Amino acid sequence: MKINQVSTINPNAYGYTAMQSKDNVARKTKETPATDLRFLNKNYNHVFVNFQGVQNSLELVKQIPLEDRLASLFQNFRQGDLILTGKELNKAKKAMYESAGLVKNVIRRAFFVEDDKLGGYLGFVKNAGGDTEVLNLNPFGINIITGGKSYELGAKDNFYVIEDDVLSVQGNMLKIKNKPKTDLSPFRKNFARAFDFETNVSPEIEKLNKKSISLLSNEMKKTPSKVTFADVGGQDKLINEIKKSIIYPIRYPQGYENIDVNHGFILYGPPGTGKTHIARALANEADATFISLNGLDLESKWVGESEANWRNLFAEAKANQPAIIFIDEFDAVARSRQSHDEYGNKVVNQILTLMTDIDNEADNVFVIGATNNFKALDSAITRSGRFGKHLEVPLPDLEGTKKILDIYTKNKPLSEDVSKEALAQRLFDIKASGADIKYIINEAHAHGYEREGIFEKMENRTLKNSDVENFRINSEDINATVKAFLESRDVNKRRPIGYR
Ligand code: ADP
Repeated sequence: MKINQVSTINPNAYGYTAMQSKDNVARKTKETPATDLRFLNKNYNHVFVNFQGVQNSLELVKQIPLEDRLASLFQNFRQGDLILTGKELNKAKKAMYESAGLVKNVIRRAFFVEDDKLGGYLGFVKNAGGDTEVLNLNPFGINIITGGKSYELGAKDNFYVIEDDVLSVQGNMLKIKNKPKTDLSPFRKNFARAFDFETNVSPEIEKLNKKSISLLSNEMKKTPSKVTFADVGGQDKLINEIKKSIIYPIRYPQGYENIDVNHGFILYGPPGTGKTHIARALANEADATFISLNGLDLESKWVGESEANWRNLFAEAKANQPAIIFIDEFDAVARSRQSHDEYGNKVVNQILTLMTDIDNEADNVFVIGATNNFKALDSAITRSGRFGKHLEVPLPDLEGTKKILDIYTKNKPLSEDVSKEALAQRLFDIKASGADIKYIINEAHAHGYEREGIFEKMENRTLKNSDVENFRINSEDINATVKAFLESRDVNKRRPIGYR
């Protein structure tokens, strides 16, 4: 991304307003003496099309200025989109494959906008910072005119553009606009051909996409959550702590100006106690982007690409602030470095560097690692101030068990012979986690359906509304389910090893 100034332009002579880009300072640092004003004499042709009665004919929409067609696409431009433009799709693709190194994000959708007047090939992507980048796919330099000055962007190089910048490709002008002159959305499919980027793809892009797609679409789920703190039982102390440490700093930054905000958290405790559940509720209550990953998946899939992926992940979170990155099975990625595991070492260092960056920039990004195995975590993670808060998520006490039971029986029909008090005591005695309680209640429900022949009636299509209305989960269902649960727990040795 190197651009050199090649000329100073009188913007008025050219007919567009000089704009101060936020990056003019950076762009200015590479200024060189003016050398080439040749292209300024050429005007980029405006063809005025009367849209009334347009029959979606390809020939007709092609007459709409390229800048307007692109502007129409920019209105819906998202990260993961690629727009190629130039004379021929195949040549554009080829030029793109040769410049694959320019793309840092996964390509999810690719569009081609045909234009035979441009004199070269250009690509556009949206980078992690949310800026639109132009990719110069040509074997020659192009010019970016911004703020009254012209800069050269070398062959196979990229730089970001803003509204009112003008690109000059072999003397043909293309103005960057965020909005077309007329609403072109009804015609988009006529001038923007979506094409499959995966077929005939160069190995380089394939590699890039593989690692990034797995990052962005599988492991990373940006789930808008509906879970609230009211859906979490028995973890009031923890929730209060989280409110003070994360929710209030997000909601009331003015109250935290003189307080060091901690951005890294470790939640530890047995499985099923609600660590993930709490993180989801937190993201929802904080109205933050929630990015959830599983350390075990990362460990196996990302070897080799790990550091870059972590950087991408944090960049994505930073671009979508406020954001919460939740890493389940954190010990799988942040395990002790004494294991001489090179992958682990690199990742731990990378995560700590990224956390330092978040702390320094005071970003509204919070990283929560969850583990059943606190002791396995690298001491660089647990001792450093970067993950400064270690919060235990214990099995629920008796009161907590009652609350969780209330949550999961709220909409369940319980028979009078089921005492919730006694059931709570029993669940507490067998050290049931929140996940266990939910499971037992649901299983008891299914057991009752079996006992009453409700599943059978569903199969035979003889079920009546009254069958469901009169149904109750009784103590027999509960007893049978708890018994089966305990047996399977013994068999599976569900209790974690190494939980401190
Ligand atoms: P962990 O991340 O600690 O292993 P999860 O949050 O994945 O546990 O728990 C699994 C499910 O069990 C949750 O989605 C939630 O439905 C239920 N659950 C666990 N703990 C609680 C709790 N304290 N209150 C309410 N539901 C819970």
